Amino acid sequence: MMDIRLKKIIEESESIVFFGGAGVSTESGIPDFRSESGLYFARHKYGYSPEEMLSHTFFMNKTELFFDYYRNNMIYLEAKPNQAHIALARLEAQGKLRAIITQNIDGLHTIAGSKIVYELHGSVRRNTCMKCKAKYDIEYIMNFKEMIPRCEKCGGIIKPDVVLYEEALDEGTVKASVNAIGNADTLIVGGTSLVVYPAAGLLNYFKGKEIVLINKSETGYDHRATLVINDGIGTVLGND
Ligand code: ZN
Repeated sequence: MMDIRLKKIIEESESIVFFGGAGVSTESGIPDFRSESGLYFARHKYGYSPEEMLSHTFFMNKTELFFDYYRNNMIYLEAKPNQAHIALARLEAQGKLRAIITQNIDGLHTIAGSKIVYELHGSVRRNTCMKCKAKYDIEYIMNFKEMIPRCEKCGGIIKPDVVLYEEALDEGTVKASVNAIGNADTLIVGGTSLVVYPAAGLLNYFKGKEIVLINKSETGYDHRATLVINDGIGTVLGND
């Protein structure tokens, strides 16, 4: 059974926005590179932190090592949508949910059937040639015979449409997210401790009634929420 208080909030809402973080993806078997084990592994194997390797400077200066880390640690093509993704897609189809705003780059919300998804940090499924702007899918990147994927039209390096550290978020995506949050009557925040930029700032645009926080551990925003559930997001949303 879904938490009775959450069920009631969803029933009484007309315009829900979901804001999700890494916890939504970890339940599909995609590890959080910012976790303790993720940090340890990166330092141990590569000698750099994930933040260093996923920075714009690193991409430009150590492109081969970037793609080594990226291809082996950021891409999980076998991962499937979990109960959270599926429940959110269903809420959208029912006309309850207006938008999903995610910090994840795996594209699983779209695969689950969600239509309005704002990917703040981009998606590994979209890739662009830096020279001629030709578009490539993730399979092209992963199947490319050399470590650095190159454009078949012009030979340029193909860069994932993922927002790297030091890079700005896409303005249109941020505007759309601000707009969605500003017009929501209920905001459900899941699988994030709200410390990753720009999560906390975006929440300030919410003017609606109910904030529901679903996270395995406490967050700095618990005091602002009408309902806090400390559990896995898939478990919470999947039980109906
Ligand atoms: Zn090209």
